[in-house]
Amino acid sequence: MADLGNPQNTIDVLRRHQFTFQKKFGQNFLIDPRVLEKIIRAAQVGRDDFVLEIGPGIGTMTQYLAEAAREVAAVEIDDKLIPILEETLKGYDNVTIIHGDILKVDVEKLVQEKNQGRPVKVVANLPYYITTPIIMGLFESHVPLDSITIMVQKEVADRMRVGPGTKDYGALSLAVQYYARPEIVANVPPNCFIPRPAVGSAVIRLTRHEAPPVQVQDEQLMFRLIRGAFNQRRKTLVNALRNAPGLGLSREEAEAALDRLGLPLNIRGEALTLEQFAGLANLLSAKSEGNTGG
Ligand code: SAM
Repeated sequence: MADLGNPQNTIDVLRRHQFTFQKKFGQNFLIDPRVLEKIIRAAQVGRDDFVLEIGPGIGTMTQYLAEAAREVAAVEIDDKLIPILEETLKGYDNVTIIHGDILKVDVEKLVQEKNQGRPVKVVANLPYYITTPIIMGLFESHVPLDSITIMVQKEVADRMRVGPGTKDYGALSLAVQYYARPEIVANVPPNCFIPRPAVGSAVIRLTRHEAPPVQVQDEQLMFRLIRGAFNQRRKTLVNALRNAPGLGLSREEAEAALDRLGLPLNIRGEALTLEQFAGLANLLSAKSEGNTGG
């Protein structure tokens, strides 16, 4: 089958199948072989690897992955793309196409079947409208992960890797950095895709931490605190937490916790590091355990 890294071959396939792009599925197909090669290199895909690809489109990156990996499973939602994928990937016996919504597929079961539960590499040019739920879903599930190497909107890649004191810092930065080490691999301009997206893109590699970088007794509480802090990011942390649903925290309790951590009472959530959010969660979970204990 023709190499789809060559843009003319992509155009031929699209024409022959009279394919029309669906905006609602975030369809922007890669047509630049240098970018494709960069993604495969950054993902460090090797002969022993099982790779999960999200949204294969017409199978361009899938071809590159199939050449490099032991086995590839690719999950595609658009039924119009399934017959195209069957054609473009005909020459590969190590690719399984799964027709479905990645947010509904049981990835844990898939990885158990295909990789005996060993860590998987996820590689994708993601549909941008669901970047965050896909990434968070993977991290929060019990799927054993080695790394996630993905094309995302440039601004979202920036949000994933920045620390306190920048406008892009937020709940996504903290969540990603709790689970993984982010590295930008490449900035990718709109002309590397067909059709061209309205925004710049970047490839980011998220390498899963073997152990979390901070010790936290109650992860869920830490993420509730983080969400509470950034839902009202212009307020002081004390006011944001006092108003946050589900936390049940009084002003006095929030102020006492900040005081114990040596933080000023008028600090905003956007100034806290991951370590400080973990510290806050540990203080507050110790307090609520103390309460239940009488
Ligand atoms: N990998 C291809 C490439 O690089 O040329 C296509 C990438 S395109 C940005 C995103 C792909 O994800 C599209 O093929 C789209 O149909 C598919 N997609 C969108 N939402 C999806 C979902 N919920 N589950 C699985 N695939 C999805």
